[in-house]
Amino acid sequence: MTCRIHLASNNKKKLQELDRILVAAGIEGVEILPLSEVPSYPEPIEDGESFADNALIKARAGAAATGLPTIADDSGLTVQALNGMPGIFSARWSGQHGDDAANNELLLAQLADLPDERRRAAFVSACVLVIPDGENVVSEGEWEGRLLRAPRGENGFGYDPLFVPDGGDGRTAAEMSADEKDACSHRAQALAGLLPHLRLLAG
Ligand code: IMP
Repeated sequence: MTCRIHLASNNKKKLQELDRILVAAGIEGVEILPLSEVPSYPEPIEDGESFADNALIKARAGAAATGLPTIADDSGLTVQALNGMPGIFSARWSGQHGDDAANNELLLAQLADLPDERRRAAFVSACVLVIPDGENVVSEGEWEGRLLRAPRGENGFGYDPLFVPDGGDGRTAAEMSADEKDACSHRAQALAGLLPHLRLLAG
């Protein structure tokens, strides 16, 4: 029997990433339904103070509306020299939600005078699974690295072209393949924490 799980997102890349991770973990019999495949419900206001708060807000709303176990994530870039910002404001740092080019440009301008050794940053992801009448599972992942002075690479999204992960070969996250990013990214780490619970749901 197939277990239906709602993913409270319409981001195709997140859906594909979750599908790839389930396949890699050998978890079968799970059907992931994004927002486009469940009856529409009002989008909750993400007014939490942390990535985990906002992921919980989205997952609780999805579980209440659909009655299905629901996964949601919230993620962003934390820059050490900016005291952890853009953080939960990553998607709309330049004012306009989801304008990656404008967000990157503003961030580069803000960090223009920073020497290389102070350009530390990390991607952070909180992934949450809310099971109706059951438990809430919160799992966080962090991917550390440094920021360049100009974008490089065409893959990925968001701040990927500015971010060089630690322990790599100097390529940005936007110069890595999807599989390479899955092997170490903040979201992959956070999703890994949900896998035992998804395995149980899948039976
Ligand atoms: P959300 O969790 O989808 O709302 O993502 C918030 C924002 O964080 C995105 O719009 C991106 O700017 C940034 N972000 C989150 N994860 C990544 C990533 O893997 N690469 C690049 N940017 C990311």
